[in-house]
Amino acid sequence: MKQYSDGGFAGRVESKKRRSGATVSIYHSVQAGMDDDGGRWTAICEDHSAIISTDTLKGVRSAASQSYEWCEGCQRPHNTTQHIKPGANLGGANLRWANLTGADLTGAYLRMANLTGAYLTDANLTGADLRMADLFRANLFGADLTGANLTGANLGGANLTGAKLYGAIGLETMEAAE
Ligand SMILES: [Zn+2]
Repeated sequence: MKQYSDGGFAGRVESKKRRSGATVSIYHSVQAGMDDDGGRWTAICEDHSAIISTDTLKGVRSAASQSYEWCEGCQRPHNTTQHIKPGANLGGANLRWANLTGADLTGAYLRMANLTGAYLTDANLTGADLRMADLFRANLFGADLTGANLTGANLGGANLTGAKLYGAIGLETMEAAE
């Protein structure tokens, strides 16, 4: 059995920043001094001290990259609605898990913005430029995306229920949902 000691920590396989923005480490449970009743491999959110175990390294790697699924701290959206003005330039902005429910983002410039997991419920994104924006797991329920430019946007796992997409550009290039 391989002995893991990434960064000098017994049993640590790797430790890195994930999509949620938090640092999540992967450990070989027993080598790290934990029992393996829960699973042979354990992921720990270093930012929020949440923990999850699985029996396969593949499984724990998948869990680590999706810490918002099991770490409460990683899934808590922060409310940024009040800081955003219509037509705002948000190019490249980090809006991960932002709560933009009902926000007026008409014509907003959101190119390259990271909107992973953002709540855009009923947001008005009419004509917004979302080119290359990361909308992974974003909640776009009821959002008005009429005429929005979604070229290259990552809509993997995004909830588009009820979203208006009339005339939206670039949907043919979107990545398949994971
Ligand atoms: Zn976390």
